[in-house]
Amino acid sequence: MIDFEGNIEKLYSVMDKCELCPRKCKVDRNKGQKGFCCTSHKIFIASCNTHTGEEPPISGSRGSGTIFFSNCTLNCVFCQNYPISQLGNGREISLDDLVESMLRLQERGVHNINFVTPTHYSAHIAKVGYLSRKKGLTIPILYNCSGYENVEILKLLEGIIDIYLPDIKYSSNELAFKYSGIKNYVEVNQAALKEMKRQVGNLTVNKDGIAKKGIIVRHLILPNMLENTKKVLDFIAKDLLTDTFVSLMAQYHTANKSLEFKELSRSLTEKEYEEAVKYLEKIGLENGWVQDLNNEC
Ligand code: SF4
Repeated sequence: MIDFEGNIEKLYSVMDKCELCPRKCKVDRNKGQKGFCCTSHKIFIASCNTHTGEEPPISGSRGSGTIFFSNCTLNCVFCQNYPISQLGNGREISLDDLVESMLRLQERGVHNINFVTPTHYSAHIAKVGYLSRKKGLTIPILYNCSGYENVEILKLLEGIIDIYLPDIKYSSNELAFKYSGIKNYVEVNQAALKEMKRQVGNLTVNKDGIAKKGIIVRHLILPNMLENTKKVLDFIAKDLLTDTFVSLMAQYHTANKSLEFKELSRSLTEKEYEEAVKYLEKIGLENGWVQDLNNEC
């Protein structure tokens, strides 16, 4: 049996010397200090709304109840949400109001609560997840993240999170450092994905095809970097197994600082996309979704 209250207490105490993410800044966020993610104990969100553009089992017919947190633990040069993730756009919200917002989204009929960029708020998420269940939230809770996660923190989220939606961005730490400013993304990300799969298993859906529980791994194909994509897919097939649901995303476009990097200064070509899809099929990854270059599922 999971000790939710004990786990929430542990997560909040981790913020005394913050190690909620693998950056391990060790600042006292409970006393208002801020580390790399520019976030203290206060919660800031950029939006709280119905979103219809996620994968079909997530958006379904009535949308996903998306709560977009401000700031991020990464610093990706191509981030398409950088005004929120890197400039910190958003408004403060209390824990109680966040719980009420989750319940209101459920009343609107959404299929799930979708926490986007949640990592630096994992303590708060455990708490609002627990409190909202007590107040009648019955729909699944999603953790929609960059995949740069601390396994020990993920373990404390067990039973709170129903669906993990992590990115797998890189198969090379050299690329991760160059484009996201992290030296150990690959080993940290791979361990995190294994822990997520251990907790929630493969994706399961209800009779209407709506996600109930499990993991969907997302990979955004970068231009000129098909070898990266192939190695990422190899890891999924070998270590997470070929039944894993993969969302292979083709909608890269230049944003943020990407024009400073020649190789990132264009969209994906149709040829690159087709080759990635062919490789996905060749290595036996049969579950999931591919997109067209117009960003349609
Ligand atoms: S959550 Fe923020 S403060 Fe904590 S370790 Fe990560 S970047 Fe640093």
